[in-house]
Amino acid sequence: MICQFQRTIKRPTVIEGIGLHTGKKVKLKLYPAKKNEGINFIRKNILIPAKIDFAHSFDYSTSLMREGVAIRTVEHLMAALYFTGIDNIFIEIDEEELPILDGSSKEFVEAIKKSGIQALNEEKFYAILENPVYINQGDKFIEGKPSKITKFSYQADYNNSIIGKKIFTYIPHEKKSYEGLFSARTYCFLEEVEYLKSLGLAKGGSLKNAVVFHKDNVLNEEGLRFEDEPVRHKVLDLVGDLYLLGYPLIGEVFSFKGGHRLNAEFVKALLNTNSISIKPASQVFDFIKNSTLVKAV
Ligand SMILES: [Zn+2]
Repeated sequence: MICQFQRTIKRPTVIEGIGLHTGKKVKLKLYPAKKNEGINFIRKNILIPAKIDFAHSFDYSTSLMREGVAIRTVEHLMAALYFTGIDNIFIEIDEEELPILDGSSKEFVEAIKKSGIQALNEEKFYAILENPVYINQGDKFIEGKPSKITKFSYQADYNNSIIGKKIFTYIPHEKKSYEGLFSARTYCFLEEVEYLKSLGLAKGGSLKNAVVFHKDNVLNEEGLRFEDEPVRHKVLDLVGDLYLLGYPLIGEVFSFKGGHRLNAEFVKALLNTNSISIKPASQVFDFIKNSTLVKAV
């Protein structure tokens, strides 16, 4: 979301649920923060900034860690904070893993909106992608290109008639475009469930918080929310993981079969190759206004 001023929430709010992987009950308390304080988790009195430097593990979710204290599965909340333009917030958590809720960012977005969004008296900062960045892992890759129109795309490649080679592109500049994205749920294949459980994962997983495929069928009674819901969810994950950059990214990102690990590698590559510059909103607006691409839309 492109906005001029930094944002926080108006009032504290509580979100409760169970962790997808731990299956444990968890309570999140969201508190307003001041300008330039950033997005920070608090657990066991340890402050863990939501930044790539604290990213720790990427197996089936993105986790942060500081001084031995972990916070797991942060990506759907991070995406919700991106969608609602929140830059500054404290998130206190009484367990290791964030609640999975319905498997999407929907309830996080609703809770943030219900608590109210407060503009702060300080310009928002953006990370402008200045040079192309490409990373790969086998045939999976993520490519970033400078662009005045931000686009986040994902292409799947499954031997499955529902997902197949579907592509979804999210364009944050378009008003309300996230509405077709934030309610896309996480998914897995029934064939994977036993394997995940053998790793001690997906203990809280059920048809209430994930789409489960069995070969070419959806096992959830209600079916899919969108015919391309799985790729939409992959874009949601990408948006959430990219927000660990610490700033909203302006540029085009295309992921082919990427996951949390590759997303994190991409964020590190953006920082390590000096491919981004951090600019205040006033300069970003000029940058967008002067774009012939914007005029053409
Ligand atoms: Zn996800």
